[in-house]
Amino acid sequence: THQDRVFNFAAGPATLPEKVLLKAQSELYNWRGSGMSVMEMSHRGKEFLSIIQKAESDLRTLLNISDDYSVLFLQGGATTQFAAIPLNLVNPNDTVDFIVTGSWSDKAFKEALKYSKPSTIWSGKSEKYTEIPSFHDLEQNPDAKFLHICANETIHGVEYKDYPSPKNGLLVADMSSNFCSKPVDVSKFGLIYAGAQKNVGPSGVTIVIIKKDLIGNAQEITPVMLDYKIHADNNSLYNTPPCYGIYMCGLVFEDLLDQGGLVEVEKKNKKKAEILYNAIDGSNGFYRCPVEKSVRSLMNVPFTLEKSELEAEFIKEAAKENMVQLKGHRSVGGMRASIYNAMPLAGVEKLVAFMKDFQARNA
Ligand code: PLP
Repeated sequence: THQDRVFNFAAGPATLPEKVLLKAQSELYNWRGSGMSVMEMSHRGKEFLSIIQKAESDLRTLLNISDDYSVLFLQGGATTQFAAIPLNLVNPNDTVDFIVTGSWSDKAFKEALKYSKPSTIWSGKSEKYTEIPSFHDLEQNPDAKFLHICANETIHGVEYKDYPSPKNGLLVADMSSNFCSKPVDVSKFGLIYAGAQKNVGPSGVTIVIIKKDLIGNAQEITPVMLDYKIHADNNSLYNTPPCYGIYMCGLVFEDLLDQGGLVEVEKKNKKKAEILYNAIDGSNGFYRCPVEKSVRSLMNVPFTLEKSELEAEFIKEAAKENMVQLKGHRSVGGMRASIYNAMPLAGVEKLVAFMKDFQARNA
């Protein structure tokens, strides 16, 4: 590891693999003999076309995405998709179902109110978003056009371990914060979307994986930039795409494939999460994670201190030891360690050692 780099536990934008950053650095001025930086290339030139095509094809390999699905590289963040999804998939009077497991699914629900008739069929709000519902207790609206879930709630740290099967087969998932962190059976979903800036690249790229037969039904008012058909027909090159970000995502996909693919990546993520949760649970209550054990996120680990007055000191001392961005989201407080793909095991081990030492000094 580079001595001057910190262990960055931020929720997003988040740490990226050092190998990827060094490779990007080595190609910054002159991409593979082209005499240009990727930032300077025409998005219609053969160089950039090779970059975006390779990125798509590597992502298809990683997630085993079949030809029945389009892969789109878009802009506007996952937040833009909260609107684009109802605008493309349903009519204004159509019912759509939402499971609300945290702040992000709630935001998606609220945006859907403008373009459809969403209905919350389950909410974890009264339990402070520490749970995922059991699927046989769920009752969908009979005429619901899709079921929307957030696969991993970045703020609350709850993550689906398997997925519900809606009656009409149309499951839509926000995978922003666990995208490419483990294998996923894409064929279970009508649409998967993710902002890149947690696991796969810099902010500015939003990835949408959509079943092709769902494309082409956008509401009349849909802005051209939000119309999946426009982007699918133009291979994500209808207008100038976020070229450099797509290039960076491509480097990350290559790196994930080099690691042996998502089965191997998941093993590493499970190991990191286990070490951290064990440290929390084994602290005799000094640290506490409120999330129900079976649905704890492998990516975002929220925890509190029994002596909450020590939280600011904890964060300050950790930062002095080059472990940064451990403050919890302003809406929930406490701490949060985001341990995405690119967080090395050594970073988690260092955090756990620090937690034990902090406890010994303050118990
Ligand atoms: N959904 C989830 C699960 C997130 O973690 C975020 C985080 O930023 C968003 C949506 C919003 O994404 P963006 O900032 O890319 O619009």
